[in-house]
Amino acid sequence: MEITLSKYAGFCDGVERAYNIVKKIASDPLVKKPIYVLGSLVHNEDVVKKIEQLGIGNIKPQERLEDIFNYTDKKIGTLVITAHGMGPKIYELAKKKGVDIVDTTCPKVTKVQRLARIFFDRLYQIVIVGEKNHKEVVGIYEWARKKAVFVENMLDLKNLHLDISKKIAIISQTTQNQDFVKKVSGFITDKYKNVELVDTICLATQNRQEEVKKLARSNDVVIVIGSPDSANSNRLWEISKKINSKSYFIQRKEDIKGEWFDNCRKIGVTAGASSPEWIIEDVMKYLRSLGLKNRSF
Ligand code: SF4
Repeated sequence: MEITLSKYAGFCDGVERAYNIVKKIASDPLVKKPIYVLGSLVHNEDVVKKIEQLGIGNIKPQERLEDIFNYTDKKIGTLVITAHGMGPKIYELAKKKGVDIVDTTCPKVTKVQRLARIFFDRLYQIVIVGEKNHKEVVGIYEWARKKAVFVENMLDLKNLHLDISKKIAIISQTTQNQDFVKKVSGFITDKYKNVELVDTICLATQNRQEEVKKLARSNDVVIVIGSPDSANSNRLWEISKKINSKSYFIQRKEDIKGEWFDNCRKIGVTAGASSPEWIIEDVMKYLRSLGLKNRSF
């Protein structure tokens, strides 16, 4: 049996950066305590637990941003913004409440937020290709002063009605499916004039998506490691499934089922950008051990 691990599996630069910042501030005496992360720093339960062990709390995102500051009985010292980013209001509110912000927004997300603001200021109609309830997308929408339309699926695209007299800007969630963004852009540019498209899918996502296509074509079974909440991991699985029906989504090695590998000679493994090294290594070890036990491999 042959097992191939994608060369782009696991933490992307943005997640790695956020995780390292949080580890560093936990022991920095100059950082106001207690520290709370707003939402999951990484869409991975094991990583979230590790962060808690550093003495850092977690605040679930609240519908009313003001409620974030009443979430705990303690007065928040420092609030960590995750790599997904947030809208502009949180920075103003934190300042008013005397709470420090440590901003780990991925620079690639910051770029999309800035574009949203620029296009808004220049009176473009903004189309965001992405999941409207995803944290990153909500933040981008707020930077566009909530003046944008979303295209999340083909139905949204079919129902899209833009003002033909206005300029249109297309931006996307950094972890969107490249093929879907191409489809949306093609559709809009065919139908409307004055369309400006900025490719905002990050390179880490592009590489992972290209690589999973190769894995799906050249292996009998594909294992995608990730959390169900992780947009980029789900996308990898969707892409893989389209090419290879024997594509399976797992969170950890315990989710693997022996029957997936009947008559299987080659396994491809990839992992979303929020999957830590130790979980990938665990899965790889487990798959190798299965290979030794099961001679039919
Ligand atoms: S997937 Fe891309 S945009 Fe998102 S955190 Fe990672 S590097 Fe940044």
